[in-house]
Amino acid sequence: MSTGMRGVIYGPVASWRLGCSLGVDPVSRAEKTCSFDCVYCQLGRTRHHTAERREFVPLARLVGEFEELPALHLDYVTFSGMAEPALASNLGEAIDEVKRRIQAPVAVLTNSSLMWKPEVRAALSRADKVVAKLDAPTEELLRAINRPVQGITLQEILSGIRALRDEYRGCLALQMMLFKDNQDQAEALAQLAREIEPDEVEVNTPLRPCAVKPLPPEALAEMMTAFRGLNALSVYQAERPAVRPLDMEETLQRRPVL
Ligand code: SF4
Repeated sequence: MSTGMRGVIYGPVASWRLGCSLGVDPVSRAEKTCSFDCVYCQLGRTRHHTAERREFVPLARLVGEFEELPALHLDYVTFSGMAEPALASNLGEAIDEVKRRIQAPVAVLTNSSLMWKPEVRAALSRADKVVAKLDAPTEELLRAINRPVQGITLQEILSGIRALRDEYRGCLALQMMLFKDNQDQAEALAQLAREIEPDEVEVNTPLRPCAVKPLPPEALAEMMTAFRGLNALSVYQAERPAVRPLDMEETLQRRPVL
């Protein structure tokens, strides 16, 4: 699958949330492109800090890579990568193209920052599962943890997630990364989740190498009591499948530790 250009497809990777997951990077730039610059990001600092949506990968290129793909047993095809997938203005069409070619359900991992836009919700609604990041219950913490592009507010993020919840018939998961900066906010985050009514809550801590230390299993287990009554699972409770990527280089660029 080596084309000389950065590939759009990577993996499969073992995901604690999505099992054997084939990655699709609809931005596919060599440098991280995101509307956030999270302090715990495993991909390092954001090089292109932007909330501007545009076409990065022509659909023909994505389709070409899927047509070369060998038969695989997959639990999910997941839009993620070195970028925020909702920055790709052709995300909805890209999801449709994948669904035409692959039986496995499609998930999108998003930082939720662009969900206030109706066209982004329309694109996300074409996926079977949307995993929406929510780490901060206050504007101040959003700025400290996720370091969004200027102009993105928590209020906007929450209004976008709530609007998606109202419109979307697929599975909506909230993903929360907990570590020392927000470990005293579990109750506040759980309260937001109760108001949003997601199908699942995924409680994570930064286990992959990054600038932030993970919380130990006992601390996260204690914090899980805040999520009582919700369909919540922590990273320490989940099992990962054994998975072998098709192209190790493409995969390690997006997932430095498998
Ligand atoms: S939203 Fe994801 S890709 Fe963007 S900085 Fe945060 S962790 Fe990294």
